[in-house]
Amino acid sequence: MIEYSMPLFRPPSEAKSFILQATIGCSHNECTYCAMYRKETQKFRIRPMDEIKAIIDEASETDDFNRVFIADGNALVIPQKRLVEIMEYLNNKCTCLERINMYANIGDILRKRVDDLKVLRQLGLQMVYIGFESGDEIVLERIKKGANYEQTVRACKMLKEAGIKNSAMVLLGVGGVDRSFEHAYATGKLLTDTDPEYVGALSLQIRPGAPIYQEWIEGKFQLPDKFQMIKELEIIIENTNLTDGYFFANHVSNYLPIKAKFPEDKEMVLEEIRKVLRNRDESVLRPDYYRDVINQY
Ligand code: SF4
Repeated sequence: MIEYSMPLFRPPSEAKSFILQATIGCSHNECTYCAMYRKETQKFRIRPMDEIKAIIDEASETDDFNRVFIADGNALVIPQKRLVEIMEYLNNKCTCLERINMYANIGDILRKRVDDLKVLRQLGLQMVYIGFESGDEIVLERIKKGANYEQTVRACKMLKEAGIKNSAMVLLGVGGVDRSFEHAYATGKLLTDTDPEYVGALSLQIRPGAPIYQEWIEGKFQLPDKFQMIKELEIIIENTNLTDGYFFANHVSNYLPIKAKFPEDKEMVLEEIRKVLRNRDESVLRPDYYRDVINQY
């Protein structure tokens, strides 16, 4: 039986995929809001190739999967030669393979060449999930995201050139009360400038183990309240223009779940959000007890 190193995270949309845990943890592991992989317990490493091949062998003998998600936190960090070897092996073993997806950090993309990305695309890399979190430079510095606005735009252009789809995650509330507007405004602009195929908006949940938890306890970080987070969603959407994409805010962490196809549904969801902000009726929002579960993202 395949043994996973826990904790293991994957996007909700990868529920039906075979999870190939080719790396353990996240090579960055600095984001202040993140409690996913702790340095002390889950030091980042790439599994040896023989271990990865043995996992693929075992999985392909027991299942006929067509979708693969390569974990953990930023599998695109795997050096090109090794990643190509893994993906070629997957293609050889899994005859009905349709797609391979993974998480990526901006730096992982920038360290590759467009031609490298094109090779990965040919081997089945369909989409990468990227945590933008914010477009505001001050917020990006504060949360130690490890990438700025310009680098994010540049990396996303490389993905487009290589034909790899981009699912961008943004985080409501991560700018705190003091930069709530700036965070939301710049995030919308960043989404317009990067034009991802999918956007997922999540709401910050402060968890013990994440450095921001201590900042919050000490009063150095103030979390916007539920209506302020919904206001951020409004500002982000107002400033987001996607050529042809989906905007989801249906993650369990959100107070107001929405799903929209851009550009056609943009005004409709804005009206929906504005109505909630006008009426301030909490009964239409997701209750906190429902939001307060351990999420996968
Ligand atoms: S948010 Fe993503 S990139 Fe940042 S530390 Fe957590 S897993 Fe790593």
